[in-house]
Order: sequence, then structure tokens, then C-alpha cells
Amino acid sequence: MTFDALVIGGGLHGLSAALQAARRGMKVALVERDFLGRHASGATAAGVRTLGRDPAELPLSLEAAETWHVMEELVGDSCGFHATGQVQVAEDEAAMEKLRARVEGLQARGMSHEELIGANELKSLVPAMTGPCVGAAWTPRDGAADPHVTIRAFRTAALAAGVEMHEQCAVTGLSRREGTWIVTTSKGAFEAPVVINAAGAWSAEIARLAGDPLRLGLKHSMMIVTERASRVVAPVISAMGRRLSFKQTDAGTLLIGGGVQGRIHDDGQSAVVDFAALALALDTTRRLFPWTEGLRIVRTWAGMEATTDNHLPIIGFSNRAEGLIHDFGFSGHGFQLVPSVGRVVAELAAEGHTETDLSAFDPARIELERDAA
Ligand SMILES: Cc1cc2nc3c(=O)[nH]c(=O)nc-3n(C[C@H](O)[C@H](O)[C@H](O)COP(=O)(O)OP(=O)(O)OC[C@H]3O[C@@H](n4cnc5c(N)ncnc54)[C@H](O)[C@@H]3O)c2cc1C
Repeated sequence: MTFDALVIGGGLHGLSAALQAARRGMKVALVERDFLGRHASGATAAGVRTLGRDPAELPLSLEAAETWHVMEELVGDSCGFHATGQVQVAEDEAAMEKLRARVEGLQARGMSHEELIGANELKSLVPAMTGPCVGAAWTPRDGAADPHVTIRAFRTAALAAGVEMHEQCAVTGLSRREGTWIVTTSKGAFEAPVVINAAGAWSAEIARLAGDPLRLGLKHSMMIVTERASRVVAPVISAMGRRLSFKQTDAGTLLIGGGVQGRIHDDGQSAVVDFAALALALDTTRRLFPWTEGLRIVRTWAGMEATTDNHLPIIGFSNRAEGLIHDFGFSGHGFQLVPSVGRVVAELAAEGHTETDLSAFDPARIELERDAA
């Protein structure tokens, strides 16, 4: 089984890189240990957010934002994206001052995707938010998508582009011989000169197998879905200094998250909900939307993903394992970046370089000594 590139991981980042590498004429295979979208990509809140991004991530995030508005051109489907806008509210003047400093800083650098709005404008944008707020930052072109429709659309497009996919296929070993990776899996060996490590929470394990030990943390973010309520909130809502992400689906259910952490399951391979932490997370929701008190929770879950010290992802060639491209560490905000990061990784795979500045995402910053592995 010989290919030009082998992608490890069938989450959205692996699918996007595989699709865009195949469109560049490469013969690509993708291997997934469970099934496509089983981990972070299937657990995500699917917020499409440029709002509040680290400046280092903004060029990729703004590029991705443009693609989300014309997603049909990339994968033949809108992926359920609605540009409802996103709002980050300030509950007091101190929070508003932080938002003001950020938005003015962006404007000084020529970026206008975030706008400041006052209390009255906020009230007319989200009348159902009756908690105390003095204003907000607002990104009208942001929104949210449907994660499962997105996974299906990227899968369909990747298959049509010629990507060979193997589910229930776990990578267990990597060795390099004469410029080619021999990748051992539960379904036999694959050979390719380029390997893309998009294994999410397990990316450090793949890097270690390739002789490139890295320091990565884990996140176990949780989500809540409530019963249906009258449809009253259009934008996605977050709050400055709080762990909140709040949106109302087309069906009227509320989807509440924002990075509140669960914990790792005893099997070490999945995340589980921590109900005490989840209860605390609902405080901000109740304060901003007192009418949510008494709504029944119908489902909760937690998803697992890799995180880095500064919450910026790792994207680029390994400095120590030739032909290995890292594509992980999205630290809880990688869904929005799927189209642009896939484009960059595909360029690296097909051409060996990219014009995009990846210095902020260099694996060097998380490298461990080889004998620490
Ligand atoms: C609860 C939650 C809410 C989120 N909300 C948002 C949001 O609103 N907006 C946003 O932008 N981002 C959000 N994120 C983050 C976003 O979902 C992730 O950054 C993104 O889905 C990561 O995709 P991935 O492909 O890198 O990882 P994953 O989807 O985890 O895919 C990695 C895959 O690699 C496979 N794998 C691992 N080891 C092996 C092996 N040895 N062999 C073969 N395959 C292997 C795994 O089985 C897995 O399927 C959220 C994440 C969570 C958990």
C-alpha cells in the first residue's frame, strides 16, 4: 500500500488536509483508529469564530472565515453554516475596557472584523439577554455550523477526490527507510514519503513513534444541550473573562459550552462529564439569561483534544523526523480553522513549503529531549 502521503487521524483536520492534498494531485490514504469524527470533531460546538482569536492565529482564521461563507466551493455543501454573528459581552466596565483595548489594537493593525457595541445596541441584537451588560464586541460574519454535516461533507469530498480511507485502522509504529515512512497499522503496513500527523489528542504518541517526542497537554471540554425553548437568540454568545459559549439551534435547543473541563475516562482514551464543574458553568448562563432557569438538560458530553501551553496549534514539518508534518494542538478552537489549515498542510505535503508564515506554530516550542521519550 504505497501512497504519496498518509494522513493519520480522521477528524476534520485530517480530512481537510487529505482532501486538499488529493486535489493537488497526490495519491493520499487516511487511516483512522475508530471512525471518522469520533473524537473532538464529532464533539465540537462547531462555533465559527474569529472573535477574540490570538493575533498569531488571525491570518489563518480570517482566511478560513472567507471559506466558510462559500463552503460549497470547497466541499459541495454549506456544512450547515449560518452567519448569525458572535457576541462577546462585557458584564462590567473592567471587562468592557479589555474588549475596547483589543478591538482598538486590531483596528490599529488594519483589521475590522471585530466591532464594539454599546448596551442599547446589544439589547436590540439580543433582546432575550436580560442580565447586566455594559456592551460587547461583535463579529457579524462569524456564526456556527453543523459538525456532523461538516464531517460528512469533508468525507464525501475527500472520497470523490480519490482519498483512500481506512477506519478501525490504528497506527502502531513508524519507521523511515530510504526517504519513505513505513507505517505499521492494525490493518497492515502503508508506505509514503510524507506522513501527516492529525491524530488530535494522540498526536504526541504518533510523534514519539516517529522519534520526535513532544510536550502536549489534554483538554476535556464539555457541552450541554437543553430541551427546546422558543427561538429567541440568534448570535453565538460568549462573555469576557468567563467560560461560556451559548447558542440556540434552529430546533430551539440551547447548546452551552465554552471550555468547562470534564476529565479523562479510566480507559485513558476518552473524556467523561464532570457534573459538579458543569453545574458551576451554568452560573453565567443563568445570570445573562435568567429565563433559562428550570429548562431541562437533555444531553451532556465531553470531547478530548490536544492543547499547548499558549493555546496555539502546532502546524508544520517536524524539525527532527524528515517528511513528518504536524497538524494538531488546536486547544479547543480548531473547528473554524479546518479549511485554511488543511490548505497549508496540503501545500506542505505537495510542494514541501508554503508562503504562509507558520513561525508561531513551529513544533520547536514543544520539543522534548529525545531520551525523555
Ligand atoms: C466540546 C468541544 C467543543 C468545541 N467547540 C469548538 C468551537 O465552538 N469552535 C472551534 O473552532 N473549535 C471547537 N472545538 C475544537 C475543535 O472541535 C477541534 O479543534 C477539532 O475538531 C480538532 O480536530 P482534529 O481533526 O485535530 O482532532 P480529532 O477530531 O480528535 O481527530 C483526531 C483523530 O485521530 C485519530 N487517531 C488518534 N490516534 C490514532 C492512531 N494511532 N491511528 C489512527 N488514528 C488515530 C482519533 O481516533 C481521532 O479520530 C471544540 C472541541 C470540543 C471537544
